[in-house]
Amino acid sequence: MTTTTFAALGVAEPLLRALAAAQHHTPTPIQAQAIPVLLAGKDVLGIAQTGSGKTAAFVLPMLQRFSAAPGNRTSSPHGLILAPTRELAIQIGEQIARYGRESNLRHVVICGGIPERRQIDQLRRGVDIIVATPGRLIDLGQQGHLRLDHVGIFVLDEADRMLDMGFVRDVRRIVGAMPARRQSLLFSATMPNDVAQLAASLLTDPVRIDLAPATITVDRVDQRILMVDAARKRAALIALLNEPAFKRVIVFTRTKHGANRVARQIEDAGIPVAAIHGNKSQSARQAALGGFAGGRVRVLVATDIAARGIDVPGVSHVINFEMPKDAESYVHRIGRTARAEAEGCAISLCAPDERGELRDIERLLRRSLPVSDGNHLAGNEPASPRHHQSQRPNEQRVSHIQPDAPQRDRHPRQHRRRAA
Ligand code: AMP
Repeated sequence: MTTTTFAALGVAEPLLRALAAAQHHTPTPIQAQAIPVLLAGKDVLGIAQTGSGKTAAFVLPMLQRFSAAPGNRTSSPHGLILAPTRELAIQIGEQIARYGRESNLRHVVICGGIPERRQIDQLRRGVDIIVATPGRLIDLGQQGHLRLDHVGIFVLDEADRMLDMGFVRDVRRIVGAMPARRQSLLFSATMPNDVAQLAASLLTDPVRIDLAPATITVDRVDQRILMVDAARKRAALIALLNEPAFKRVIVFTRTKHGANRVARQIEDAGIPVAAIHGNKSQSARQAALGGFAGGRVRVLVATDIAARGIDVPGVSHVINFEMPKDAESYVHRIGRTARAEAEGCAISLCAPDERGELRDIERLLRRSLPVSDGNHLAGNEPASPRHHQSQRPNEQRVSHIQPDAPQRDRHPRQHRRRAA
């Protein structure tokens, strides 16, 4: 957190009241840097990920600028926020409602998984701000339900994930439908070349705000690697989930099929669980998220893309049932815990043939992670033939996981995320 206040950043009174009601007393670093620049009308390139407070950083100036100069309300909005996933779009919509409760601005969330009719009706009544995923926005635009020729502020959120998901053409098409004279913002957790190129084409003389937030998030997470044979992972997972300290847990799997299977196994062990992945309907996903946030289900099993944008406070543990294929996903996964300045614990179950993925993660983080043997957690579960290869020279056998007493890394890493 910073020492400045929202008022000192130039945030106006109605928004200050909403921030106080939301218990946001101090701006986060991205808010402190971005809000004055955005209020001044400049373009921004923000290297920030979920958990940094980036949503409020772009929502507050947008609300303030539109409240000061209310335009005619039509189906041609003044603000457009593009997000890669429905969950993220819905969460951004919720934040607009929360901060803009006194602003009399109307927003609509346009994304798949929700009946088109409702969104079309909302557009007909007139909107100031649209939050959208690309596909449905283009569909409704093609059907003549909305136009983008009055967009004065455009936000592209989670640009790296947007490109990962293959949305680059859609994004360019949407940008082509907007006026060239506008304020543009691009937020991304990482800055690979394709995102940097997109940023260069979208933004005019942007102010770059790079907080390397992944470093901040990752440093607050107590990370452990448990070497567990593939055949023993299921039993090891159940043993961990039966520990009382595992109060609110997200379990990551690589595939949708894997998410369903692991969720069934957890359910069979009598632990309240829900799964969230791309094959689930929007209502099923919202129900799962609602149950998890409300504490009715203690464990949420998720795939990477479905989990993007999950913003549930108080996640005590993230468990990687499999090591993620790419190291950056690891950072995103473990960032689901240790949110809003809290601490959290991430445990990765690593089979011997996943050591390559572990090496990639350690290379990205620029430090080695504490590794211990977790096979004993599985009790008498049969070992896989590779069991005997699982010990690294420095591996210790842990008899008990104590997630509430994290052993902090005594050598804080100085890594930076990939820079542009
Ligand atoms: P975001 O990075 O936008 O996904 O925000 C992460 C979480 O931090 C959300 O639950 C926000 O409500 C919360 N948050 C955002 N700004 C602040 C703040 N200044 N103080 C406390 N919490 C905040």
